[in-house]
Amino acid sequence: MSMLDKFESRFNGNTSPLGGVKDVFFKFKTGVNRIRLVGDMVEERAHYLAGNVKRSNRGLCPPMAFEGDDKIFSAMHCPDWDPTTETKKSEKVCPICQLNMIAQRALASGKLNDSTKAFYDELKQNSKEMTSFKVNIIDRDDPYITLVENGTETKQKGLKIASLTYTVAKKIYELSCNLHFGIENPDNGIDIEVIRTDTNGKTSYDVRPVFDGIKAKVTPLTAEERAYQVHDLVAICNREVDVGKVRAALHGDLISLLDKYYPQRSGAPATPPAPIATGAVAVSTGNTLDDITAQSMSEAATQVSVLEQYPQNQTVVEGIEQLPF
Ligand SMILES: [Zn+2]
Repeated sequence: MSMLDKFESRFNGNTSPLGGVKDVFFKFKTGVNRIRLVGDMVEERAHYLAGNVKRSNRGLCPPMAFEGDDKIFSAMHCPDWDPTTETKKSEKVCPICQLNMIAQRALASGKLNDSTKAFYDELKQNSKEMTSFKVNIIDRDDPYITLVENGTETKQKGLKIASLTYTVAKKIYELSCNLHFGIENPDNGIDIEVIRTDTNGKTSYDVRPVFDGIKAKVTPLTAEERAYQVHDLVAICNREVDVGKVRAALHGDLISLLDKYYPQRSGAPATPPAPIATGAVAVSTGNTLDDITAQSMSEAATQVSVLEQYPQNQTVVEGIEQLPF
């Protein structure tokens, strides 16, 4: 079984005789996390699909979507993002990015009543892409991962995968710049400490080198560490997304929005649908959300520059929940 198959097995909750690996995805705990970076980072874009009851945010899918045999995961890789090239694909199929575009267009009209504006503000927030950087690490506090084969679990030392927010990745980059060497270098790299602080529901991170006296302590990888299997981050980020399944799992009104503005074309999923049919909407009774939406979009679509005002990745989210991949 390949490493990727093991991950698939793990992601699908299948830890049965097929085997797999566990405890590979590193979570930053509150306080000090001492880690050693190994190899390059891979930039990833993802969407978070679940709601948050505490914040009265219903998310993009009802809770039942994440339960049962046919469940979907609470986060998904954006299928429009190519982690191999770290660029957007020319072929756009992501229903969540489509929802984000719908929300942007509706809001750009500037003619929404308060409740409709609140709806689209929340939709825009919930549907945006989240940037993270995946990297192989050695977890100095707990360097063990678990292999599961034929129902038997074995602990062994190995690399884990950390998901860094944009800010943490940037701080690591800046640290490397200040030190004038790549801190992930196998021969003269260093351990770092990522300090996670949780205050009033807000999470922040700081990064500092591990010192030896007044100097950063160089920690060459040992022969054992160099022999660890490096996880194929691109393959993990590039896992196929069942777009139809995710679309079908959304809240009903969101499915209706997509059906209206990004209708599915049977047999031709590769062709991005025409964004918004300008002539399709006309008279608004002003009574339903859909009417209001249609009218505002029709108006927004006439403004040529509307979409240019919103670069695809305009926002970087901090303090997001750790994604499960
Ligand atoms: Zn997307």
